[in-house]
Amino acid sequence: MKPQGFRDTGRFNREPARPGAYTPNNLARLMRCLDISANVAIPLRPTGANTSATDCNLATTGTTINTAGLDRIIHIDAYNHTVTAQAGVRVGALIAALAEEGMELVGSFDQTERTLGGAIAAPCMGPGIGEHASLLSTQVISMKVVTAAGKAMKISHMQKHLLNAFRLSYGMLGVIYEVKLRVRPITTFSASHRSMDVDTFAHVSDRLANGNVGLKFYLMPYKNQVYLDLRHYDASVGNTYNAPWKIKDWGESTVLPGVFKSLGRVMPIPSVRYQIIDTISATTHGLVNSKLIRSGNNAAAGGRHRRRKPRNLLYSTWCFPATDFSLVVKAYARFCRETFARTAYRCDLPAVGHRVAQDNSALLSPSFDEALIALQTVSTQQRGWDDFVLDLSEFAENWGGIPLFNATVATRPAYVAQTYGGRMEFFRKLRRQLDPEGRLLNPYLSRYFK
Ligand SMILES: Cc1cc2nc3c(=O)[nH]c(=O)nc-3n(C[C@H](O)[C@H](O)[C@H](O)COP(=O)(O)OP(=O)(O)OC[C@H]3O[C@@H](n4cnc5c(N)ncnc54)[C@H](O)[C@@H]3O)c2cc1C
Repeated sequence: MKPQGFRDTGRFNREPARPGAYTPNNLARLMRCLDISANVAIPLRPTGANTSATDCNLATTGTTINTAGLDRIIHIDAYNHTVTAQAGVRVGALIAALAEEGMELVGSFDQTERTLGGAIAAPCMGPGIGEHASLLSTQVISMKVVTAAGKAMKISHMQKHLLNAFRLSYGMLGVIYEVKLRVRPITTFSASHRSMDVDTFAHVSDRLANGNVGLKFYLMPYKNQVYLDLRHYDASVGNTYNAPWKIKDWGESTVLPGVFKSLGRVMPIPSVRYQIIDTISATTHGLVNSKLIRSGNNAAAGGRHRRRKPRNLLYSTWCFPATDFSLVVKAYARFCRETFARTAYRCDLPAVGHRVAQDNSALLSPSFDEALIALQTVSTQQRGWDDFVLDLSEFAENWGGIPLFNATVATRPAYVAQTYGGRMEFFRKLRRQLDPEGRLLNPYLSRYFK
């Protein structure tokens, strides 16, 4: 059973703090979790829906603060285009509530089970159209947090530098409990789909990586195939239906991973298994994307409203400068094929990519200096994955990849320091001021931020 309170009645015999997990459902309880005088084990780690691929939200020997209990949407202001909600609200629930008022998030985000707090404290990125629609945290107007010392603090848009530091702070500056975001009226885009080989994609990727197009793609390196999903605003789009987007999300996040995991068990001959897998993937992308979906909006494109993360999925995301991507994508396809030939390991799901606009609204923004392409490698095959992601990291470092603290597995601290440069040092200084005792740093984050 989870510990519920923090009573320390023994005046002389204070019990040693034990690891625990708390799910506060109001501010007072959250403050008690972080109160210095409360006898809780440190480190303290906030967690949302737990969809991170790294240990950034773990506190095995300390205290986990699960924000899922803070799940109220406080106010949707359809006149001023803002929404105020607590950190534990699921992104899917927020999208649905906004849609009822004719509003949507600025940007297109799937993984609807993630929490608003997790999507602000860590990168929540998607194929948004335009220069400010790639990261959800960009839309934060103000937020309320509880500091490492258990004090409530409001950060307004007037405190620009502090707000920039708290966006994408991975819970290292404090626990976010309420956020006010800019939203907008639902806007329909048209969606077009193409498939091509990797060389052709590399050839056109420079032109596609401009801000007026929402670019998402599915890359099948072993089949030499890329499926493009291009979104743009145009005057003549028809009606948008939610059902095709829901089918697409269901296929991609539930059906394909489930089928591929089972195939791994029932079909022992790898060459046959992978042929089946690639054929199913290609058919699904060809059918669902090209035939069903012609238009959309950010509300529909989020897919189904889920409460739990898809099971069985392993992933690691690296971002690459958009200007180099025509070379990177060919090298990535080669890397996958060569690694398969050498180690017999390959991912069974297509890699997913999208453009991330240049955005310096967060101190630790991955695209602080330039536009990027995020490339997410996804698989259900556990055996061999750990070695594969080590090789992937080496590949990504050679190509100037930028890691994400929540989504990139196996990153070297020295390389991270080099990539984030002086911004890391600035963040560390601020961290030491707000959390001098290092209560919010777990061993994983200490490797990079101590
Ligand atoms: C299959 C799969 C696909 C994905 N695809 C994408 C994708 O396309 N694009 C993308 O951007 N991401 C993607 N992700 C990553 C993931 O959805 C993000 O990391 C997400 O934003 C994290 O939200 P969460 O609620 O799960 O937070 P968690 O994973 O629980 O936490 C993330 C970080 O935020 C901190 N944190 C959480 N809540 C708070 C809070 N209230 N206050 C302060 N700090 C907090 C945690 O300590 C941790 O450091 C994918 C994940 C999976 C599993």
